[in-house]
Amino acid sequence: MTDLINPATEEVVGTVPLSTVEETDAAIARARSAYRSWREVSPGDRARLLRRFGDVVDAHLEELAQLEVRNSGHTIGNARGEAGNVRDVLHYFAGAPERLFGRQIPVADGLDVTFREPLGVVGVIVPWNFPMPIAAWGFAPALAAGNTVVLKPAELTPLTALRLGELALEAGLPEGVFTVLPGQGSVVGERFVTHPDVAKVVFTGSTAVGKRIMAGAAAQVKPVTLELGGKSANIVFADADVEAAAATAPYGVFENAGQDCCARSRILVQSGVYDRFMELLEPAVLGVRVEDPALDTAEMGPLISRAQLDTVASYVPADAPVAFRGNAPDGPGFWFPPTVLAPVSPGDRAAVEEIFGPVVVVLPFTDEADAVRIANDSAYGLSGSIWTRDLGRALRVSRGVEAGNLSVNSHSSVRYWTPFGGFKQSGLGRELGPDALDAFTEVKNVFLSTKGQ
Ligand code: NAP
Ligand code: MG
Repeated sequence: MTDLINPATEEVVGTVPLSTVEETDAAIARARSAYRSWREVSPGDRARLLRRFGDVVDAHLEELAQLEVRNSGHTIGNARGEAGNVRDVLHYFAGAPERLFGRQIPVADGLDVTFREPLGVVGVIVPWNFPMPIAAWGFAPALAAGNTVVLKPAELTPLTALRLGELALEAGLPEGVFTVLPGQGSVVGERFVTHPDVAKVVFTGSTAVGKRIMAGAAAQVKPVTLELGGKSANIVFADADVEAAAATAPYGVFENAGQDCCARSRILVQSGVYDRFMELLEPAVLGVRVEDPALDTAEMGPLISRAQLDTVASYVPADAPVAFRGNAPDGPGFWFPPTVLAPVSPGDRAAVEEIFGPVVVVLPFTDEADAVRIANDSAYGLSGSIWTRDLGRALRVSRGVEAGNLSVNSHSSVRYWTPFGGFKQSGLGRELGPDALDAFTEVKNVFLSTKGQ
């Protein structure tokens, strides 16, 4: 058993059991057995069940959101959005079963067709930063394609996933089709990698663990989808709407207290407008409302844990170049104020490593080529923003930055109907959008001879 802590108050909010290897194996066996019938459910019925699952989630939206506030310290506004995202992802992929088209390819003396076959049991491993959406991005398309799913939530944040498992049954999904297994990464997560009946692993989390999963999966040539870390650049050109860029920059990085793989945690500013940008950024950072996440007005809550607080604090030692910082409540809870570091040198630890907290570095650049060079000077390549009024430049820089998800004159978050994933060490494969089903199916080619016997 493990105690779950409310990060805003440090109070215990619940206790969950940790699954053992034997329990994990038993759940995988049930999922394997459920797979035989789930893949045979007619496309229309599978679609209807997923739509109903989405509807049941919608009917429990507020309950799920409140649970996430207590277990994860997410602001209530964000938590409602996250529960709504689970509903939307389910409804979106509920459109997939009847549309899993194959191809008919011209051949001599017969008919050649392709099928998109499900893989079997899919193991989904979820981190603590967005427990609901990241779970759904894995389980919804996997189920739609005819796979069954075993899902391991993060040890710190299992409550909403466990509730989603119950809601799936309430919606009528057969027993064993979607199983949530709370437990440790080194036990349950590892077992997904080593168990021969888990056909695929979808992992979101740190790059270090992702590499380990990929290495482990190689032993069985088991496919993986990896969504890993980031150190994304927010590039502000001198010709941009500098007011808008500065006003929105805090929300591009401090969302979810910076515990967001897409956090724009390096702000690159063209030299000519650097001073002006910093002048405007200061009140914007001070204006971020960091408070009890249960309040409707809260814009940022606490960090997830004491350990995460210590990690984040290590990037801001006493002699750190703090340009300015916002507010955070005193008292219990894992609070850290939004913090802007400048000037920093590009090689500084804070400028290179993913901090996963509300700390941003600001770096100057000279021209377009310099901006692209600095943006790409990272092992990561997940996300980023480009602020300019020059359309040609926006397109050139969008093509030049090595990252999977970019937004121009905005910090767009992930949309469930567009592809999401990383370049370089930010990951492998794409989730969401029209191509997500490719990650949960194998293409089978069948030739039928039409020659007379
Ligand atoms: P983590 O330690 O990598 O854990 C992620 C998940 O993997 C957890 O469920 C964890 O279980 C499990 N795990 C740990 N060791 C494992 C192993 N040996 N085998 C299988 N599973 C294992 O990451 P985290 O600390 O939860 O999350 C923070 C990190 O995730 C950040 O670096 C962040 O960038 C990254 N992240 C990336 C994305 C993205 O979409 N690219 C999204 C969110 C987070 P436990 O709970 O037991 O540790
Ligand atoms: Mg961990």
